[in-house]
Amino acid sequence: MGLIRYHHGMSIQSRASPNPTKPSEGHQTADFCIVGGGIIGKACALGLAQLGYSVIQIAPDLEKNQALMPNQFGQRIYALAPSTKNLLSELHVWDALDHQRIQAVRDMHIFGDRGQANDHLHFSAFEAGRPELAWITEADLIELTLDQAIRFQKQIRTINTSVSDIHIEKDAKPILVLGSGEQIYTQLIIAADGARSPLRSTIGIAIHEHDYDQAAVVANFSCAYPHLQTAYQWFLPGGDILAMLPLPTQQVSMVWSTSPENANHLMQLRSEAWPKLLQEQVGGSIHQALGTLQLQSVPASFALKRIKAQSLIGPNYDPKVVLLGDAAHVIHPLAGQGLNLGLRDVASLLQIIKNKEEFRAIDDRILLRRYERQREGDTSSLLWITHRLKSLFGSSRPLEKQIRNWGLGFVNRSHMIKRQLIERALGE
Ligand SMILES: Cc1cc2nc3c(=O)[nH]c(=O)nc-3n(C[C@H](O)[C@H](O)[C@H](O)COP(=O)(O)OP(=O)(O)OC[C@H]3O[C@@H](n4cnc5c(N)ncnc54)[C@H](O)[C@@H]3O)c2cc1C
Repeated sequence: MGLIRYHHGMSIQSRASPNPTKPSEGHQTADFCIVGGGIIGKACALGLAQLGYSVIQIAPDLEKNQALMPNQFGQRIYALAPSTKNLLSELHVWDALDHQRIQAVRDMHIFGDRGQANDHLHFSAFEAGRPELAWITEADLIELTLDQAIRFQKQIRTINTSVSDIHIEKDAKPILVLGSGEQIYTQLIIAADGARSPLRSTIGIAIHEHDYDQAAVVANFSCAYPHLQTAYQWFLPGGDILAMLPLPTQQVSMVWSTSPENANHLMQLRSEAWPKLLQEQVGGSIHQALGTLQLQSVPASFALKRIKAQSLIGPNYDPKVVLLGDAAHVIHPLAGQGLNLGLRDVASLLQIIKNKEEFRAIDDRILLRRYERQREGDTSSLLWITHRLKSLFGSSRPLEKQIRNWGLGFVNRSHMIKRQLIERALGE
């Protein structure tokens, strides 16, 4: 068959293949085929269908359908930037979200690791002249609402399975082969298949990867004091980062980036042990701000990496696959921006397809290059900033320690830098 096999079992048929794949009987076709069923894949499927294109979406976990429990929030909690609100509004999804489950953030406090009062950065919506800085909500809420919107779209077909093979030949339609052996013919493939993206490696797109040797432990807590719509982040001596994000019904979502050993230890803690442990952190500051915290969810742990794909389109000889979301880039959660960045990929692709010249096909290399160019600046700068911040606060060198803590106070006093940082964080 002339197939190149890769370690994860997927394959790509090269342009030199002597035996092109023949259409199988009963095969399905669509303008776009989206591989991946996370928020990025779902938002992209919906947006393309709303532009009038036929879409097939494939992922093994499309039929999760978790019910949302009253006053209890899912394990995956995200800070959403205004750029995300804008996209979800354009997709007519933002207003359909249950806003009782979304918490607006009006203030953010970031603390250095020397324990000095001046090592502190404060962002406020009031100062920035906006009603809110961000919103905190659950992945499940966004996914369920996207699922509902997708069900109304006749243009979208969903297939609940994995992709096992991909065949791309020059000047021919790419073909996806599913686990069942079924074949899908399409014009353009969207790889939204996450950080480990099997599609990305199959088509030979290399990545820059850095392992932070850290894991993020996440859990939700009820707090004794009102959180006052405020998000907190503490940089701790030794490189840990502890964030508390406000949720509705006087709860907070914790994201604790720490060593893999400590993450293991935290994952094994009994729920009664958490209030005391958190009370003892950062000299009692968490307790001062939020009072006693009681565990409300099963903690989860995520290994932390930085990944940047060297190209957003491939294969080189005839690009038919576009990378979006974590398949294209993975960043440290300290800035809470990974999903926001991925949804800006979606917004950019939708805008390019919507505004394309009539004579161009949707897989025109010029359009794909436009997408790649448009996403380069945003992605590289956000990856660079979060990586630098992580390295700066992870360093135990006295000079760097002084610089980072002094830096927080300095930025706090500089309205211009602060405004620029807010604009950056808001995705503008
Ligand atoms: C601790 C933590 C906190 C975070 N907090 C924030 C935050 O506050 N704000 C923010 O913006 N971001 C945050 N992020 C980042 C965010 O989680 C990710 O950027 C986002 O989930 C990426 O979504 P995705 O759809 O690209 O990938 P995923 O959600 O990983 O989805 C990938 C999909 O591809 C499917 N798939 C994989 N292989 C195949 C295959 N062979 N065939 C078919 N389907 C396949 C999977 O089943 C899945 O459906 C955080 C991340 C972490 C780890």
